[in-house]
Amino acid sequence: MKTLHVYQNTLFRKYVFISGLIIACILAGTSLMAQEKEIQDIRVQTMAVPNDNADGRWAIAIHGGAGGPARGTMSANQEKAYLEKLNEALSIGMKELESGGSSMAAVEAVVKFMEDCPLFNAGIGAVLNENGKAELDAAIMDGRTGKAGAVAGVMTIKNPIEAARFVMDKTNHVMLVGKGAENFAKSMGLKIVEPSYFITQERLDSWKKWKSNPPSGTKEEQEAQGKHGTVGAVALDVKGNLAAATSTGGMTGKMEGRVGDSPIIGAGTYANNNTCAVSATGHGEYFIRNVVAYDLSALLEYRQMTLEEAAKTTIIEKLEKLGATGGLIAVDREGNVVMPFNTNAMFRGFAKSTGELEVAVY
Ligand code: ASP
Repeated sequence: MKTLHVYQNTLFRKYVFISGLIIACILAGTSLMAQEKEIQDIRVQTMAVPNDNADGRWAIAIHGGAGGPARGTMSANQEKAYLEKLNEALSIGMKELESGGSSMAAVEAVVKFMEDCPLFNAGIGAVLNENGKAELDAAIMDGRTGKAGAVAGVMTIKNPIEAARFVMDKTNHVMLVGKGAENFAKSMGLKIVEPSYFITQERLDSWKKWKSNPPSGTKEEQEAQGKHGTVGAVALDVKGNLAAATSTGGMTGKMEGRVGDSPIIGAGTYANNNTCAVSATGHGEYFIRNVVAYDLSALLEYRQMTLEEAAKTTIIEKLEKLGATGGLIAVDREGNVVMPFNTNAMFRGFAKSTGELEVAVY
């Protein structure tokens, strides 16, 4: 009887010990998970930069790509069609900003509209890669929080800019590529299409031309074949917040898997409330190697250049010397706008709360 009692007692102690151990493990695990979550939160936490300049003014600039056809080679009807679409795109952004909307909402809406317009090299109407497929890149950046989102090499997301925004808002990451990006977009409820959706007859013809006679890469040849494109928007809202967004099909005949500057934060897209918002277009490899969008911002931040001086330095002096073709649009925290390019043409436009408005190709 006594032996049984001692046995039961030992069993009970063992039971208490093991249960205690399990509870301790669970508590330690939970605390580790909480710590990990805290670390993750710190990782994604960014510094909000208020713009104390805000006085109700707003400004927006858009582009539909640099390197269009030379003056005189585009029909009057074609030019009219481009100008109309640029005006429409601009008015979408203006409406958003006039009604007190955010610069983020404005740039996303404008770029989405341009993605849906087959005239521009983004979304439907994107240029085709070496295998005749459309592989799309896009990025968006919030100058207030320093947060950014991007997707690259996607082939089934109807509006890559929306996916980029979701990457920024719903993940701890900045960029998702290929299948992963597409699966994520689908899980967020974004519209998924067949890869053939993006291919227009015009782009197919340019691709066939490229295939039968790939250009040697000189500036003139690239421009003649209309290799460039891309759409983008930058904006300053009434609260003084800056934002930038860019979307592209890249360059005709690019290698499969090639990613250009547009989705690379600091190269083709950048926004910082302390300085400016930038969206670039042109020969992406040069823009990546020269970190063009960030370089422009850094010239404002560290060299106290004006936006105009900085734009001239990056696009005209630095890139031109390297033989790189392209341009950019930028707006600074005071609402100044620049749209420099060193190509034949750049589809572009801007509008400000002062009433100034312009759309142009050459
Ligand atoms: N920058 C884009 C790229 O290299 C193309 C362009 O803007 O024309 O992908």
